[in-house]
Amino acid sequence: MHELAIAENLVNIVKDVAAGEKLSKVTKVTVCFGKMVQVVPDLFETAFRAAVADTVAGDAELDIEVLPLKIRCNTCNTVTGPEDYCFVCSACGSSDIEIESGRELYVKSIEGE
Ligand SMILES: [Zn+2]
Repeated sequence: MHELAIAENLVNIVKDVAAGEKLSKVTKVTVCFGKMVQVVPDLFETAFRAAVADTVAGDAELDIEVLPLKIRCNTCNTVTGPEDYCFVCSACGSSDIEIESGRELYVKSIEGE
């Protein structure tokens, strides 16, 4: 399961940060996913709960932010946010585009004490 592997990776990061900052308890974790990562928040939450059980973040609140897809056109330089996975510039129709955001996957913040 995609979400479980991601959750385990992110929980390892949370544990490293908590150890580095000498936190005895993590109270809140905010994670960011780009839309293209296609994480299902409910499944991720379940996977996260399983991965943090018996760790310093076992009772942490989880916040998930989904970042929209943004593409930049290499022909006319327009940045657009297509609703679907439509990798064509809506301004000029070029398919020579680069993905500006939507592939992110990271821990945005960790709160603890
Ligand atoms: Zn264009």
